Amino acid sequence: MAGPDNMALRLPTIVHLDADAFFVSCEQALKPELRGTKCAVGGRERGIISSASYEARACGVYTPMPTMRALKVCPDLILIRHTSGLYGKVSHRMFDLCETVTPLVQRNSVDEGYLDLGPCGFKTAEAIEAAMRDLQRRIWDELRIPVSIGIATNKLVAQIASKLRKPRGFVSVPPGEEAAFLAPLPVGKLPGVGVKTEPVLQRQGLNTVGDILRRSEEELKRIFGRGWREMVAMARGEDDRPVDTAEEDAKSYSQQETFATDIHDASEIERIAKRMIDELMPKIRQDGKQVRTMTLKVRYPDFTQETHARTLERATDLEAPFYPLVSPLLRAAWRKRLPLRLVSVRFSGVEDGSDQLEMFAQAEEKRRRLAHVLDRLNQGGKAEVVRHGHQLAKPPKSV
Ligand SMILES: [Mg+2]
Repeated sequence: MAGPDNMALRLPTIVHLDADAFFVSCEQALKPELRGTKCAVGGRERGIISSASYEARACGVYTPMPTMRALKVCPDLILIRHTSGLYGKVSHRMFDLCETVTPLVQRNSVDEGYLDLGPCGFKTAEAIEAAMRDLQRRIWDELRIPVSIGIATNKLVAQIASKLRKPRGFVSVPPGEEAAFLAPLPVGKLPGVGVKTEPVLQRQGLNTVGDILRRSEEELKRIFGRGWREMVAMARGEDDRPVDTAEEDAKSYSQQETFATDIHDASEIERIAKRMIDELMPKIRQDGKQVRTMTLKVRYPDFTQETHARTLERATDLEAPFYPLVSPLLRAAWRKRLPLRLVSVRFSGVEDGSDQLEMFAQAEEKRRRLAHVLDRLNQGGKAEVVRHGHQLAKPPKSV
């Protein structure tokens, strides 16, 4: 039984920090005249919007959205070209500021991560909140980047809290109130329940997170299949994942897609996975990183999932070495041969892109230069190049 002393000892020491409209905020930090405007970072012509200001979002622009559509819903949208190298630099500085508070920082992606304040010796939740308000202010004062902060006893609840009142959100969930905090929220706030899954759950009468906890075991088994226990734990706000500071594990690049209708066709899934490789690898090159491991995850309509991974002998920042892994990974992961609801690709085993073994260096260097050229073309919106299909949707005018 948790007596008053035990309750007093439990502190909300896990923090999720999430920059608001990160790419746009970086651009606004450089050009303050963009602040308060309907603006977005994205490629022209056949490009997509990668970050939109809150003013642009109010106008119906979201990410990822084709630029052409964004300009249709918001004709006075100011389109900003992606500034190469800027976001990585600002991101590093932001996390360096976090590390002045605690050494336990998990950099999840360029714009969000977790802090574990456990070793900091805070005695009260108030002291933790004051320190986090101070961090939020320092990131703004030094970098002009607005961030939202969620504070809780675990990663799951902290992450949901940080996203709740964006931009410049600040939400702290007291220990013991995790389930009560989540109960009134729409089920779509739970990680993994996306815009396509939410209506499926709503049709089952599950509108809020609390609705899940009111169902019988039999009903939950029918709705969620084998994954039902995990759903219940999530709805209760339970999560025991540690904040993982190991740079190599913490840093990964991933992308997932939930299908509007379940897909049966293996070649279609393979095509989607290869497109994800094409979209992730330019980010890896831009960060100056290389990766070794590719993980493919598939999820069935009943929410059960399978995950399989393969690791290359050497890390790379090129697409080609990973293409041949797609088909075997898909065969390994997709054993039930049922239609799929979701596919995701994740690259981990991240290393700094440094010196290559001499004998591979030259041939790879050539391919890398080609890949950089393609990245530039895609970024500049001069041409949309489909890399794995060996076809140019539109020939580049100049290189
Ligand atoms: Mg963000």
